[in-house]
Amino acid sequence: MTDRIIAPEQGFYDDAEMEKNLRPSYLRDFTGQESLKENLSIAIEAAKFRKDSLDHCLFAGPPGLGKTTLAGIIAKEMNVNIHITSGPVLEKASDLAGLLTSLSENDILFIDEIHRLNRVVEEYLYPAMEDFRLDIMLDSGPSARSVNLPLKRFTLVGATTRSGLLTGPLRDRFGLHYRLELYSEKEIIRILMRNADILQVKLKKEAAEMLGGRCRGTPRIANRVLKRCRDVAQVRGNGVIDTEITQKTLDMLGIDEDGLDSMDRKILETVIHKFNGGPVGLGTIGAALGEETETLEEVYEPYLIQKGFLARTPRGRVATLAAFRKMNVEPRHSARESQEELPI
Ligand code: ADP
Repeated sequence: MTDRIIAPEQGFYDDAEMEKNLRPSYLRDFTGQESLKENLSIAIEAAKFRKDSLDHCLFAGPPGLGKTTLAGIIAKEMNVNIHITSGPVLEKASDLAGLLTSLSENDILFIDEIHRLNRVVEEYLYPAMEDFRLDIMLDSGPSARSVNLPLKRFTLVGATTRSGLLTGPLRDRFGLHYRLELYSEKEIIRILMRNADILQVKLKKEAAEMLGGRCRGTPRIANRVLKRCRDVAQVRGNGVIDTEITQKTLDMLGIDEDGLDSMDRKILETVIHKFNGGPVGLGTIGAALGEETETLEEVYEPYLIQKGFLARTPRGRVATLAAFRKMNVEPRHSARESQEELPI
């Protein structure tokens, strides 16, 4: 049930040829998340010094910020294999058992979307994480018996976009907890400059600065926008990404001066026009837009909150005064009052 096994001497590559180059392999190439990197590098050094496996490690944060990349980096830095799977793929306890028994000493098992792990499978994980053993039930009814299978020491690296959905017992079994934050404009610019070098495309400094604030503080989006800029530069320009090419690409992608895309704007429009600026529940916004609540919460909301266009209050989501201004709508009295509620 492992999607892929990657040996340390290989790169930690995605299928797309391009991805393999853009994904940093070592901590020193990983831009931003400074305090996370420092803590993680100490944990890695210490584990290597003790010739031990790294503690189980949980990465939480919105999609595209580098959780999978960090799992690959841990494997490289520890010089061990990484086995990659995801919560929904592990349907049965036997899927997990097969995977765990195939691990070599100190290997990394990476489970993406670990909050979507089936509860039965999750319970099999507890003794595996804690005591490196598997308790398997053979037969059922009166002849049922439990077999205890020892496992090699391994490191479970879990990634989740919804750490709140993780059960307490699972969360407690991770020794290392890290939360990834959206990247600053400066960090996105550094990532763009580095990746332009790797892609061998000339990115003008002013163009990189223009893009810095338009990629939702998310490296995955920065990479995507950079590749589209490269396409436009090659087809409509002379191969160089300057501010003109950048603007053209951003217009084509529907990304505005605040880095919002059409869905972000639809969310703000919905809250402002249909619900008087809120407060309104996320489920209601989702129903109005025909979008999954989960997607709104994981993908769109963090950036709208970071940019100060949306606020969470105990009674629901509220469009801020900045959102009303952005949408050229006169703020309503009720919206002004909601601003004064304490965010949760
Ligand atoms: P997640 O697992 O959090 O969804 P990924 O680890 O798959 O995100 O990262 C998405 C892409 O963004 C990767 O291809 C990687 O190239 C890039 N990336 C992520 N974090 C960084 C970083 N700190 N520095 C440079 N590139 C990064």
